[in-house]
Amino acid sequence: MGDGKKEVKNMAKIEIIGVKKIYEGERKVLALDGVNMKIEENEFAVIVGPSGCGKSTLLSLIAGFEKPSEGKILLDGKEVKKPAPDRGFVFQDFALYPWRTVLRNITFGLELKGIPKEEAKKKAMKYIKMMGLEGFENVYPYALSGGMKQRVAIARALAYEPEVLLMDEPFGSLDAQTRKLMQMELIKIWEKMKRTVVFVTHSVIEAVYLADKVFVMTARPGKVKGIVDIDIPRPRDYTDERFLKIREKILSLLQEEVEKSQKLRNKIP
Ligand code: ADP
Repeated sequence: MGDGKKEVKNMAKIEIIGVKKIYEGERKVLALDGVNMKIEENEFAVIVGPSGCGKSTLLSLIAGFEKPSEGKILLDGKEVKKPAPDRGFVFQDFALYPWRTVLRNITFGLELKGIPKEEAKKKAMKYIKMMGLEGFENVYPYALSGGMKQRVAIARALAYEPEVLLMDEPFGSLDAQTRKLMQMELIKIWEKMKRTVVFVTHSVIEAVYLADKVFVMTARPGKVKGIVDIDIPRPRDYTDERFLKIREKILSLLQEEVEKSQKLRNKIP
C-alpha cells in the first residue's frame, strides 16, 4: 500500500485526456474537441473562454453528470464515471431549498449521506461560521441577499468535505462589490482548507485574482488554447503591475479566439 500512495502523490489530482463531447440531437453540437488538462492537488484552477466554448460542459463531465463522447477524465488516477461526494458543485443560480432554513439547507445532504442529525448539525455549523453566516442559521433563503445565498451554497458544498470543488460562474449574478468580497473570502477559505478547485468564469480579472493556473479555451469546439501560471502572492492587488500584465496576456489570448471565430463566420456565405 505504501508504494501505491507514493504513486498517487506523483499523479495529477485531475487529468483530462483527449476529451471530446458531442451533444446528439436534432442539431449535433460538437462542444469540446480534444481537451487535455492536468490539475494538481490543492491547485486553484480557473477556466476562461468565449461564451459557448464548453466550460460548463467540461465541469459537468468532471462532476460525472455527463460522459465524454471520447477520451477520459481521471480523478486520482481513476476514471470518473458518475457523481460522488468527493466532488462538490456550486452553480451560478443558488439552487437552495426555499422551504428549508439555512442550517437545514446545509444538513440536508449530510443527512441523506447517513450522517446522524447531531453530527450533521455540528458539521454544518462549522461551515456556517467559516462562511460568516452565524446568526442566520434559522433564516429562510427568501430573506437573504444574493451574496448571502451564495455563501450558503458554498457552505453546503464544503460541508460534504469534498476533495474537489467545482464552481460554475458562482459569482456571476452578484453585484460588483459583493463579487469582490466573495472572491476575497473564497481565497481565505481555500488557503485554510487547501482543496482542489476548478472554477469557471467569464471575468479575466476574477481569474487573475483567484487562480494558480488559468486555462484559456478556444471558441467552440473548445480545447485548451493556452495555460497561464500565476505566482503573484495573495491577497492580490488588482492594480499591481504583475496583475495587469497577466490580465493583458489572457485578454490577448481570448481576443485572438474571438477574432478567429468572427473571421470563420464571415467566410460562411
Ligand atoms: P459555456 O459554459 O462555455 O458557455 P456550454 O458548455 O454551456 O458553454 O455549451 C457548449 C456548447 O454546447 C454550446 O453550443 C451549447 O449550446 C451546447 N450544449 C450545452 N449543453 C447542451 C445539451 N444538453 N444539449 C445540446 N447542446 C448543448
